[in-house]
Amino acid sequence: MKIYFDNAASTPLTTEVIEEMCSVMKENFGNPSSIHAFGREARVIVENARDTIAKCLGAMPSEIFFTSGGTEAINTVIRGYLMTSPVTHVVTSRLEHYAVLNCLEDIQKEKHIQIEYLPHDSKGNIDPGYLETALDGHPRSMVILMHANNETGNILPIREMGAICQKTGAFFLSDTVQTIGKVAVLPKSMNVDSVICSAHKLHGPKGTGFIYLSRSKKLHPLIHGGSQERNMRAGTENVPAIAGMAKALEIACADIDVHFLYISNLKTSMVHRLGNAFPYAEFNGNSGDNGLHSILSVSFPMTDKTEMLQYNLDINGIAVSGGSACTSGSAKPSHVISELKGEKDLVTLRFSFSKFNTPDEVEHCVNVMKRLLA
Ligand code: PLP
Repeated sequence: MKIYFDNAASTPLTTEVIEEMCSVMKENFGNPSSIHAFGREARVIVENARDTIAKCLGAMPSEIFFTSGGTEAINTVIRGYLMTSPVTHVVTSRLEHYAVLNCLEDIQKEKHIQIEYLPHDSKGNIDPGYLETALDGHPRSMVILMHANNETGNILPIREMGAICQKTGAFFLSDTVQTIGKVAVLPKSMNVDSVICSAHKLHGPKGTGFIYLSRSKKLHPLIHGGSQERNMRAGTENVPAIAGMAKALEIACADIDVHFLYISNLKTSMVHRLGNAFPYAEFNGNSGDNGLHSILSVSFPMTDKTEMLQYNLDINGIAVSGGSACTSGSAKPSHVISELKGEKDLVTLRFSFSKFNTPDEVEHCVNVMKRLLA
């Protein structure tokens, strides 16, 4: 039995997505910027994909810009805003993805910016009151806070935080990589200026994503060249990947409630089974009780047996993460777990689920863990 519980890192492609992409690769190889019939066919595919994505977000097609994935989307929005505006005050959190933290660190080498990291509790919750205080006296700021954390699944009250940003005129980017296609992400009702997506987290292809940018906002492009994406992102569009991403999001949004319930039940079953088998294990963030239904993070005290747990699960055909994909291969705890738990000697596993997992897989995984830790 081979089990894949690392869906927050990447997901298997849905058959319909593969079929859609293969068909575009075979039939529609034209450059969407070419004006002949081959180019026009490819253009129609790109624009249909934009329409589909916009519908899923309750947005306008002109508010969607294609990128090579989540990291490029984040870098584009942050740099595109900070490097060309007089804004120097940034509010974020140390629990953000490295795409945010390292991008801001890099900008600091070129421009004086004051970065305020909002405090969080031991579970990773951030009180919106702290945001209000941080923005007080700053008529223009940039706020970057993720919708759900990719390691703990903690969900932030983005709508409430967005309302605070709107009151003070701050630009608000929310990293929705882990939530788009899993819970409703409707930027207008969430009071955000920008959200981003990475297709490979929702059964779409790697290396493609998009930015939603409210039509009331403008950004300077990160990548310069041709006039693609209305001068916002130069470079020939990855037509098959864009078509695949739109198909993946369409499928995810059509059945969002069904998948939510199914995946929530898998996670609840895992929480109960792990809790019964290993009462000394700690669920990180809010992942043991609520949090995003697809992510469960659990820490074990470091022992000879737990130290090798991720490796031994892999030997037994079970793929889990030791933190996040970005830190895999490193024995160090991830920056998120270190922020929440300090430098304690712990072994952390992240289980992340998709609609392709089954209750039998959950049961089998916990049985293997019981054997490994006996
Ligand atoms: N933001 C979050 C929360 C993520 O989980 C990831 C990927 O793990 C990214 C951004 C980066 O996305 P991509 O892999 O498309 O560059």
